Amino acid sequence: MRHICTGCGNEIPEGQDFCYVCGSWTKNALILDEENRINVYPDMCLNCGKELPRGSDFCPYCGTKVEGVQSTPVVVRRQWTLMDYLSIALAVIPGFFNIFGLGQIIQRRWSKAFVFICATILLLYLTPSFMENTDHYWILIAMQIVLFMFSLMDVFNHIGSREE
Ligand SMILES: [Zn+2]
Ligand SMILES: [Zn+2]
Repeated sequence: MRHICTGCGNEIPEGQDFCYVCGSWTKNALILDEENRINVYPDMCLNCGKELPRGSDFCPYCGTKVEGVQSTPVVVRRQWTLMDYLSIALAVIPGFFNIFGLGQIIQRRWSKAFVFICATILLLYLTPSFMENTDHYWILIAMQIVLFMFSLMDVFNHIGSREE
């Protein structure tokens, strides 16, 4: 069961009382079932006309089964979280100083983080030998740019892969 905020369309994480984006109450949110269909339940019993508590399967007054109406499946776009922005920031800013893999750490992808940190260390190790010969200096710059792009794309792809 997923809760979609009626105020802003954000998906409200499980167990939250209100939307962290706009502050609307979760109890007013749209409810999606496992197949992403919106389930709309009547506010009052169709048999006795009394108000129904939200989410009840049977009317507590007369016992009539509450029938919901389901929509066709809807597509939910996941909003970016603070962690997503943080992982981008940590891929970009230390990336300018040729330190890679921090964005992957924020995303808790340890093996990718390890690869990029190894590349960072290798680059640091190789830098003095490239600095000696100005003819080869462009190779170092090219490697730095390629690593920067790969690292940033990797962080972006991971965020994108979680969208549905
Ligand atoms: Zn909201
Ligand atoms: Zn009733």
